[in-house]
Parts: sequence; structure tokens; C-alpha cells
Amino acid sequence: MLEIRNLTVAYGLHQALHGVSLKVDLSEIVVMLGANGAGKSSLLRAIAGISEGKVDGDISLDGRDLRALKSDGVVEAGIAFVPEGRGIFGDLTVWENLLLGAYLPRAREKQDKNLRTVLELFPKLAERRNQIARTMSGGEQQMVAIGRAIMSDPKILMLDEPSLGLSPLLCQEMFQSLAHIKESGMGVLLIEQNAKQSLAIAGRGYLIENGVITGENSAEAMLNDPAVQAAYLGGT
Ligand code: ATP
Repeated sequence: MLEIRNLTVAYGLHQALHGVSLKVDLSEIVVMLGANGAGKSSLLRAIAGISEGKVDGDISLDGRDLRALKSDGVVEAGIAFVPEGRGIFGDLTVWENLLLGAYLPRAREKQDKNLRTVLELFPKLAERRNQIARTMSGGEQQMVAIGRAIMSDPKILMLDEPSLGLSPLLCQEMFQSLAHIKESGMGVLLIEQNAKQSLAIAGRGYLIENGVITGENSAEAMLNDPAVQAAYLGGT
């Protein structure tokens, strides 16, 4: 289980997170909803060990302290992060991108198994294996980015707004694929502004406002919460 306790992140005098606590278990999808600037990316970057700010508090995975590790160590411990904007190697092929995801020793051992998982989730990547990644559509590039993260054999997969910039149809496909990821045992921490579709596939959710967690509930209860509906579901 990923467990965050009392996490703070400050950029100089600006404090972006104020004592955030949350948990993500294996085989569950947890969504974090928050407006622009609420601190969502700051949270994921701190967990991934790549925060530009000053980080304080506890971050652990199955009881192991992640704060003591550098970013490679966090990946090796079992946390994969797909940043907003995807972060793939545009000049390499789809296949090269996927294999690069398995560069650390633990992942290399499980490369074949994880490749099967990725291709089951995103069969299109097998057809496009030799295509240069930057020539793919936005949705396809998102598949490559998520696939590459899965190749690192994570226990917890963190995604920063994966639906950003996708057409409604691709967005729907992407969420359907994500819904299946938990079947392989991974936990997913999903940051989204698309509340309706993300809550539909999640088990639980958190609300974050101005760097503070202001709500936590089952995804179903959040979908029916008038305050969530007003803020994130267009009042529907
Ligand atoms: P968005 O949905 O717009 O990406 P977010 O919820 O992910 O927003 P963050 O990117 O975490 O929010 O930003 C939280 C606050 O911290 C914002 O006020 C932002 O300007 C500030 N911030 C983020 N990164 C830095 C940085 N490297 N240096 C200084 N301030 C930063």
C-alpha cells in the first residue's frame, strides 16, 4: 500500500501542499479531483522523488520509506509516474519506448510478462510497434506513456491528467483501459479534471483544494455528492 502522511511541499515561500494524507491500496483505483493549481501535480512529483520544492512528511510503500530514495529508487521500489504531457521519447519507436520502461533490474526480469499486460490493455501498440512515437496521435502517445510506465513493473501507477487533450472517443477508450489495469493487481492514483469518467472507474476519491484534502469518499458517494457535482460535474 502507498501511504502518504502529513505531506507538505513548499516552493520558496509558497506552500503548495499543507499536510496531505492519503492511501492507495493494490488493485484499487483512487482518483484525486482538484482545480488548476490545487497541488495535484506537486503531490505526484513529491511521491515520485522529483519535486522541485521542499518536501516534508512521510511517503511509504508497503512500509518502506520512499523519502530516503532518489527517483530511480522510487521506480525500482514500485512506483511509476506518467506525467502530464506524457514524457515519451518522441524520436524512438513504440517498441523502444516500451522496452526502455523496463530498464531497471527488477523490471527487466519481468519484461515479457509486463509486455503481455501492456499489449492486452492496448492491442494497438503491437500493430504500431515500429512507428516513431511522435508521429502517433495524442491518444496513442498516451497509450505508449502508460505502457512504458507499466513496463517498470509498478505496484502503484500514478497518472497526471491522462485524458488531457484527448477527443471524447479516445478519452472513453483510455478510461476503459485504465479500468482493466487494476485487474493485474496494480493500484492506480489518478489525477483528473474529468470527474465523471474518472469516478466511474475508481473505487475511491479525494478532493484537494489549495493544497488541502477537503474530502474523501467512495467514488459512488462522490458522484452523488451535490458539492462534487457543483464543482466538478457541471451541476449535473
Ligand atoms: P494543474 O491542474 O493546473 O496542473 P495542480 O493542481 O497540478 O494544477 P500544481 O502544479 O501542483 O497544481 O501547483 C500547485 C501550486 O504550486 C501552484 O500555485 C503552482 O503555481 C505552484 N508551483 C508548482 N510547481 C512549482 C515550481 N516548480 N515552482 C514554484 N511554484 C510552483
